[in-house]
Amino acid sequence: MEPLEDTLRRLREAFCAGRTRPAEFRAAQLRGLGRFLQDHKQQLQQALAQDLHKSDFESLVSEIVISQGEVDLALRNLRAWMKDERVSRNLATQLDSAFIRKEPFGLVLIVAPWNYPVNLTLVPLVGALAAGNCVVLKPSELSRSTEKVLAEELPRYLDPSCFAVVLGGPSETEQLLEHRFDYIFFTGSPRVGRIVMAAAAKHLTPITLELGGKNPCYVDDDCDPQTVANRVAWFRYFNSGQTCVAPDYVLCSPETRERLLPALQSAITRFYGDDPKSSPNLGRIINQKHFLRLQGLLRCGRVAIGGQSDESDRYIAPTVLVDVQDTEPVMQEEIFGPILPLVTVRSLDEAIDFINQREKPLALYAFSNSSQVVRQVLARTSSGGFCGNDGFMHMTLASLPFGGVACCHQLLSAQPSSHNAL
Ligand code: NAD
Repeated sequence: MEPLEDTLRRLREAFCAGRTRPAEFRAAQLRGLGRFLQDHKQQLQQALAQDLHKSDFESLVSEIVISQGEVDLALRNLRAWMKDERVSRNLATQLDSAFIRKEPFGLVLIVAPWNYPVNLTLVPLVGALAAGNCVVLKPSELSRSTEKVLAEELPRYLDPSCFAVVLGGPSETEQLLEHRFDYIFFTGSPRVGRIVMAAAAKHLTPITLELGGKNPCYVDDDCDPQTVANRVAWFRYFNSGQTCVAPDYVLCSPETRERLLPALQSAITRFYGDDPKSSPNLGRIINQKHFLRLQGLLRCGRVAIGGQSDESDRYIAPTVLVDVQDTEPVMQEEIFGPILPLVTVRSLDEAIDFINQREKPLALYAFSNSSQVVRQVLARTSSGGFCGNDGFMHMTLASLPFGGVACCHQLLSAQPSSHNAL
């Protein structure tokens, strides 16, 4: 293996020589990435099944199709994105040309998580390649089978003078972060996000931090419980709850909670059958450490649905908790597993206060037959993304920005939102 210093030097030299700047070069890399996805579709699906027990359908829609869509989007728009943007002039500059030129940053580091290990590794890569950067890609070491496919196969489709995959866990990533990069794109936990931010600050390197947190889901009394339950259950238990934008907990009145419980049970049975453990559609927890953490969360409040677990298979049943206390771990940390607490509030105002007293969420959901109620939640809260009467459908729109409110690059962006009629 080439020493890290040599890899970084080689990539930086390629960037300084202007190798990645021409549109043709960028397009060739993007086409290579597209070919990788086509040629290794089955291998990626097998790897995702080994890592997370993802079904072929789930791997296709949430990993491969999204990555391919991003490649196609970049190829379609590359030349338009690269064009100088003419800007208005004042009296004194009428004879000058004034424009904004979009430049690549240089050497970019992408550090990815394990929960969507294809999508969250390759989608940032598309952006970095389309923008004409050299890239060091650091996939997650926890989604081992997918990491192997990315490390062994992807480099064969990209120019090796401008692109490298570096493997490893926390200590290797910390070593990597000691080096100077021109941009860092990190997706992962807030804890590691702080480590990345501190390392970037030493070199004043600009960063994107795509982090996690708790995503509230308000359910109004005025709605059809079965429709809400179907949508909440689908988005909570997809990938066994290991989705950064999954609804983390429900806020509703005690009466709505009673209506939601049988509806949630019926949705779970419909999606995963009477024995969810044998369902091909339910994922598994990534590793034993996360399994034990989630098993601990099952002890919070009272189990109303599910609650079973099997360590040998890292299986946690789709679970609904009630009567949880605000001070219990399930309400203090991001759940990131197939567990859904139902928290009761007496009014819409109390729900909004509950949301606003906590960290600004990455995603926020509100269900109601009254669009006035949905609009009130949107207007009186702040979140990275918002969806009315649905789960994370806003994520499927490439036309909307994505990210948390606290991300520095998101401070000026509009709050992405979409709103469905129930
Ligand atoms: P993580 O922070 O543990 O790991 C992410 C990456 O950082 C991995 O590549 C890992 O190798 C590396 N890493 C781990 N410890 C490190 C350390 N001490 N120093 C340097 N690097 C280190 O996150 P995860 O467990 O892989 O992913 C789950 C988290 O990611 C959740 O919080 C989830 O909400 C979040 N997430 C956010 C988004 C988003 O788009 N906002 C998407 C997916 C996941």
